[in-house]
Amino acid sequence: MAPGGGVCKEIIESRTKFMNYEISMPKADKSSTLAKTTSGSGEKHGMPSRNGVHDLLECPECTSLMYPPIHQCPNGHTLCTNCKRRHNCCPTCQYELGNIRCLALEKVAESLELPCRYQSLGCHDIFPYYSKLKHEQHCQFQPYNCPYASCECSVTGDIPALVAHLKEDHMVDMHDGCTFNHRYVKSNPHEVENAMWMLTVFNCFGRQFCLHFEAFSLGMAPVYMAFLRFMGEDNEAKKFNYTLEVGAFGRKLAWQGVPRSIRDSHRKVRESQDGLIIPRSLALFFSGADGQELKLRITGRIWKV
Ligand SMILES: [Zn+2]
Ligand SMILES: [Zn+2]
Ligand SMILES: [Zn+2]
Ligand SMILES: [Zn+2]
Repeated sequence: MAPGGGVCKEIIESRTKFMNYEISMPKADKSSTLAKTTSGSGEKHGMPSRNGVHDLLECPECTSLMYPPIHQCPNGHTLCTNCKRRHNCCPTCQYELGNIRCLALEKVAESLELPCRYQSLGCHDIFPYYSKLKHEQHCQFQPYNCPYASCECSVTGDIPALVAHLKEDHMVDMHDGCTFNHRYVKSNPHEVENAMWMLTVFNCFGRQFCLHFEAFSLGMAPVYMAFLRFMGEDNEAKKFNYTLEVGAFGRKLAWQGVPRSIRDSHRKVRESQDGLIIPRSLALFFSGADGQELKLRITGRIWKV
C-alpha cells in the first residue's frame, strides 16, 4: 500500500468537525502604536486607536471604516452606506434619516493616508484613503484561506500557520519529496456523486503543494479529477510544473500542468478543469476486477521550470 494512501473522506464527514477554528495571526512589531488589525468585519483599519479622526470615520453602528458617501441624520449622527441602507431611523437618536451627506467628513477622509490593514502581517505600505481598499484586495500579505477542500473550514493564516493547521486539525498526510505515488480507494463508487478524498500535502523545494482528488459530475458524466495547488502566490506557482499519471493494463492517462495558487479556490480550479480528469468508466477499468471498487494509483512529479 502506498504511503498514506487510501483514506476516503467524503464532504459530509468533514463537515461539522472543523468549524469555528481560529488561527492566531503572527503579530509583527508589537511595539507599534498602531491598533491590531484583524481580517473580520468591524475592525479598526490599522489607524492609531487614539486618533480622533479615525474615531470620527468609524461608523457608530457597525464600527467599520466609512467610505463616501457618508451619511448623517438631521442631528448630525453619522452612518456608513451599508447601515444607511438598513435603517430608516438614526440608530443613535431614532430621528428619521433623510438623505443628508456629511461632506465635511468625506473631505477629511480624502486627506488621510492609512496603513494597509495587513500591516501586522508584514505589509508596510501606506495609502491614500481611496486606494487602500483596492490595494487590500490584492495585498500579498492578506491571509490565505485554508486549502482543505471542505468549504466549511473558515481558518485563515499565513502559509506556516496553515501547514500546521492542516497537520493538526485536518490530519492531512504530509510527504517530503517531489515524486509521489498515491492510491485512492472507494468501495461502491457508483453511489458516490460528490466526494473528496483526504488532501495530501507535498513538501518539496522548501514549498508545499496540495494534491486534491475528488469525484463529481461533469455535465452528465461522472468523473474523477486530480490536481495540484501551490501554497503561495500565483507568480510563484508559475515557477513549477507537475505531471499526474494513472493507468493499468497497458493504458495510461497523463496530465502536465502548472499548480494553481491556493488564492484560487478549489472550486474555481475544478470548474476550469485544470487537472487530470478521469471518466468514471475508465477509472473503474483501471481499478481492475469487476468495477465494484475504485482502486486508482496516481503517480506524479513536481519540478522547477
Ligand atoms: Zn455602518
Ligand atoms: Zn441621529
Ligand atoms: Zn498590503
Ligand atoms: Zn482548515
